[in-house]
Amino acid sequence: MEKLPITVIEKSLKRKSIWGECDLECRTIWIEKKHPSSQAHLSTLIHESIHLIAADAGNPDWPEEKVIEWERAVSRMLWEQGYRRIQP
Ligand SMILES: [Zn+2]
Repeated sequence: MEKLPITVIEKSLKRKSIWGECDLECRTIWIEKKHPSSQAHLSTLIHESIHLIAADAGNPDWPEEKVIEWERAVSRMLWEQGYRRIQP
């Protein structure tokens, strides 16, 4: 069965003092629309994606420090490979 795609919604999350959050059931990521840099924006997207992947692998409560460790590794690797954001 084909899985749901990941939906990304940009909004202001300042009130919650978070950069992103995700819904594991509907595979939706909400991301703060004003990140300090495009690198930080990429990092948040990766972070929330890792939560979705961990949940799909049967670990919805994967420790936050592991998520952050992989977020940093993957975002650094993609950045070093030259991936950048083109403003939509
Ligand atoms: Zn997290």
